[in-house]
Amino acid sequence: MKLIFLGPPGAGKGTLAAKAVDILKIPHISTGNIFRAAIAAESPLGLKVKAILDSGKLVDDGTTIDLVKERLAQADAQKGYILDGFPRTIPQAEALGTFSTVDRVVNFDIPDSGVVDRLGGRRVCRKCGHNFHIIFDKPKTEGVCDHCGGEVYTREDDRPVAIQKRLEVYRAQTAPLIEFYRNKGLLLDVDARPAVDEVVANFRKVLAV
Ligand code: AMP
Repeated sequence: MKLIFLGPPGAGKGTLAAKAVDILKIPHISTGNIFRAAIAAESPLGLKVKAILDSGKLVDDGTTIDLVKERLAQADAQKGYILDGFPRTIPQAEALGTFSTVDRVVNFDIPDSGVVDRLGGRRVCRKCGHNFHIIFDKPKTEGVCDHCGGEVYTREDDRPVAIQKRLEVYRAQTAPLIEFYRNKGLLLDVDARPAVDEVVANFRKVLAV
């Protein structure tokens, strides 16, 4: 199954994707995780995008589209994938349509107030990208990832000024994708406000998996 996870930053797309990987046995492809890994590795791509990510703005469409096109051509993505954080603009969605056929777009719906609480408390593993939360889902040992032992840190773009910028960018550039995919008959809405287990149950229900 070829899936897109749509929704504002902090809707829980990454957390849900980690659960959905176990259910559907398809890879989770997060453009944000790919960019953060490039930054950690100080690769040419990482050096190019670091300041953009820290500010909460979007990386240019050309760079992002090339990256996803290359990733979707790999063997593990042939039977399906979960795209998390891509597409984020109409040109990205149009480009995706030229090199892959998406089966469903899951729209994780949550108001801005819920997003700010979640992102402000979010902590992320620098090594494997797993998400934690200082209230709802703490690592067993502070600062250490339960899954890989990596360092758990606060993303630069989870600080208040960048959160506001990311919400602004989401409303202006990404939210129009909801109607874009609804018009194609691909959109499924999932209420992202409840706790993770309930969101997972709703996700399974709407997708019948
Ligand atoms: P995320 O982890 O999905 O919240 O993405 C973190 C940051 O990576 C975003 O704020 C953007 O700077 C960049 N990014 C991720 N995906 C995209 C995309 N599809 N287009 C442009 N920039 C992106």
